[in-house]
Amino acid sequence: RRAEFAAGRSLPAKTKDGLRVSVMVNAGLAEDAAALGMTGADGIGLFRTEFQFLISATLPGRERQHRLYSKVLDAAKDKPVVFRTVDIGGDKALPYLSDVHDEAENPAMGWRALRLSLERSTLMKAQARALIEASGGKVLRVMFPMVSEPWEYEEARALFEEQVEWARHAHRKIPKQIEFGAMLEVPSLAEMLDQLLPRVDFLSIGTNDLTQFLFAADRSEPRLAQRYDWLSPAILRYLKRVLDLCRAHDVPARICGEMAGRPLEAMALIGVGAENFSITPAGVGPVKAMIRSLDASAVRSRVEQLLARPPKDMRRALNDWARRHSV
Ligand code: PEP
Ligand code: MG
Repeated sequence: RRAEFAAGRSLPAKTKDGLRVSVMVNAGLAEDAAALGMTGADGIGLFRTEFQFLISATLPGRERQHRLYSKVLDAAKDKPVVFRTVDIGGDKALPYLSDVHDEAENPAMGWRALRLSLERSTLMKAQARALIEASGGKVLRVMFPMVSEPWEYEEARALFEEQVEWARHAHRKIPKQIEFGAMLEVPSLAEMLDQLLPRVDFLSIGTNDLTQFLFAADRSEPRLAQRYDWLSPAILRYLKRVLDLCRAHDVPARICGEMAGRPLEAMALIGVGAENFSITPAGVGPVKAMIRSLDASAVRSRVEQLLARPPKDMRRALNDWARRHSV
């Protein structure tokens, strides 16, 4: 099967009934971008900029960030790269920012990601400047992690727009276009999508954090790993509702958690209307092979039936269907 995946990597991810699914990869290092061509992916759908912060002994300043982002954009050539602003804080220790590491009882729900960035605006401004300057003359795609309410997205976007104005006045090169997106990984945001969607260019659904918050189940607790299934009807119904809203507002949505990197999960995601994935590079071959053997409209009707009257074991029901249809 390995050889089959390798051969299929360069083929487009198109279902039997003609749906073109975009399959991008998650990345965090310059080397990941350099390997992009080999993965056969359509781009980098999630570039985790905090990796550079986590592996550095000192705070990466604007110039170091700029160098990394330029390298990544160059390596990706004409494929799109979506940069996510830093998701630091919580339980991630940064020796050079001692007050950022806290030992709160619930670090995942703590002072992290955009919550921290909005308060530490000097950090965020440096990152914005680095991203803006590295994208001079190109399209900059940027998204914000852990948005729980639309005003947080608005503030972050305004900060970027101010930096663009600054760069314009300073006669620096600026991006020819900027696309702004929000990550949906805190459940509350789903209730505010009518307010948010008219303001974003895309939405990125982070199923790792989203499922841990939906089920109130720590994603790093092994004793819970078997207990909550990504294929549970609660998650699939939730995602279907979000994806339907995105479609109604004509906003592209991309699933970027680990869930989408597994063929059966990716099949169920197509069943609830997903058409864009960003996954771990190792998943590209198997997920593309699944997509090419799938009839998207058939899986949508099956998943709709199953969600209307959920069986006890959703995973098994989906597996049976996949086997019967040679997916
Ligand atoms: C997620 O939460 O699903 C996600 C993609 O972000 P991270 O795994 O970096 O928290
Ligand atoms: Mg996350």
